[in-house]
Amino acid sequence: MPAFGPTRVSGPVRRLILVLGDQLDPAGLDALGADPERDAIAMVEVARESTHVPSHVQRTVLFLSAMRHYAADRASDGWRVEYVTLDDHDNTQSFETELARLARRLEPEAVTGLRPGERRVLDEIEAACREAGVAWRPEEDPHFTCTIDAFERWARGRKSLTMEYFYRERRKKLGILVDDDGQPEGGQWNFDKENREAFKAAPSAPDPPAYTPDDITREVIELVRDRLPGLPGKAEPFSWPVTRAQARRSLTHFIKHRLPDFGAYEDAMWTGEPTLFHSALSPAINLHLLNPRECVDAAVEAYRSGAAPLNSVEGFVRQLIGWREFIRGVYWTRYQSRGAKSNALDQHGDLPELYWTADTDMTCMRECVGSVVGTAYAHHIPRLMVMGNFAMLAGVHPQKVSDWYLGMFADGIDWVTLPNVRGMAMHADGGVVGTKPYAGSGKYISRMSNFCKRCRYDVNARSGDGACPFNVLYWDFLNRNRDAFARNTRMAMTLKNLDRIDDAELVRITTSARSLRQKLGVGAISR
Ligand code: FAD
Ligand code: SF4
Repeated sequence: MPAFGPTRVSGPVRRLILVLGDQLDPAGLDALGADPERDAIAMVEVARESTHVPSHVQRTVLFLSAMRHYAADRASDGWRVEYVTLDDHDNTQSFETELARLARRLEPEAVTGLRPGERRVLDEIEAACREAGVAWRPEEDPHFTCTIDAFERWARGRKSLTMEYFYRERRKKLGILVDDDGQPEGGQWNFDKENREAFKAAPSAPDPPAYTPDDITREVIELVRDRLPGLPGKAEPFSWPVTRAQARRSLTHFIKHRLPDFGAYEDAMWTGEPTLFHSALSPAINLHLLNPRECVDAAVEAYRSGAAPLNSVEGFVRQLIGWREFIRGVYWTRYQSRGAKSNALDQHGDLPELYWTADTDMTCMRECVGSVVGTAYAHHIPRLMVMGNFAMLAGVHPQKVSDWYLGMFADGIDWVTLPNVRGMAMHADGGVVGTKPYAGSGKYISRMSNFCKRCRYDVNARSGDGACPFNVLYWDFLNRNRDAFARNTRMAMTLKNLDRIDDAELVRITTSARSLRQKLGVGAISR
């Protein structure tokens, strides 16, 4: 007997409550004022969500398994749930057509739900409701402390958007780690200078809890193998939290065992240690198995009780109250037209095959891409300063890079992936997210990790066959974009260093970069 199957709703339905795969918090039903007697929940699994960009098999399993656990729990709480499974014979496999089909069949007075995280999904819901002739009434998502309107008010009229200013205002507004006069606890708004340590020897960071797949998850793994063959990444070992109870356990474990060292080693990397002292909570937070506010409160409580130092707690709070909310605000207010498609550095190369296989002799890329292929996770610095940096330096088209990130990470959701990739990593949005590119040579990777000690390339060389590819591509990137960066005062120092390289060496760098791109399969980078 299967552990989970499709379910149908019968009887009159006042409102159809649409619950998406990234809205799996039962408290969302309270925010919607939903009534189990008169309303019904609708949930649909559609193949297109895993194929519009190739989706890592663990990302796909995570969404489907977490949705099924949520639906089963709501049904046992007494809710009526219309659940369309991937292999349901009536399933048309597109979100839009499925919602329209359900709305026509159940004839609710209105469809309601939390505001979706992705513009494409919002468009599909609106189109489906129009087609079915039913009203769509969305509510604000309580998993964000700043509404889109509030972000727009903050951003309006500013020449550039600086996350730090946004963050300080939000901390004051929410009263997090501030005194009665609105001043930051510890006398500083950030502890960045203390938070850039590298490991001198192999670190001993406790692994996050691993959850053995239960019957529902095992069934989903088989279903995905059968219905969606050929998805990238390894299916197993699958150990992500798929229920709120598991996610709570992961949060407690992080606060106790890794938060104390989170701050100091936030930027560090080490072979065979993809998580280190990071929380690995983003998939649970993005699916709404955890509310970010409860994560922040737990971290602040650890500081108050003396269990974690301020630099770590502030660093963690900054990620959730600062970066997460800032990125979402940028997505909805600045990325709808130009930002979402822009290619400010005019780069047109292909994504190297190694992003799918981790098959490369560069130790840093093998380690970082390897953890993505194996577990659908890497922490922020491998994403930004290794894999994203490499794609930008090599001249890959930003769309190919953002598609890869969106599909290959367990936490990949458009509102958060897009500005992080196009804005922060690729500098393709014309400076909305960052006023200068996060470009780094092998020197940065060497300082922050042990990767270079185990690599066949020479991290001190910048041209020739054995030179570190990051160095070759870094200087070539600056040289190619010299004119574009000349007007950016934050790039002045970097360009001065470029000016110190003589013409003959620049020719050697250009030649090495060209042959590297050829070897990697990047192809032509300009049109
Ligand atoms: P921690 O380091 O423990 O941080 C705690 C939490 O803060 C995270 O769980 C996350 O919820 C939040 N957070 C931290 N940084 C950011 C940020 N820049 N933007 C938004 N939230 C943040 N995050 C995603 O959730 N999904 C993505 O698809 C995604 N793609 C990214 C792509 C690139 C190129 C880059 C540079 C960053 C991306 N991020 C993304 C942001 C960040 O790297 C991840 O949230 C973080 O690495 C997740 O791991 P963690 O839970 O261990 O985070
Ligand atoms: Fe990466 Fe270069 Fe270091 Fe090798 S030498 S690990 S390619 S940064």
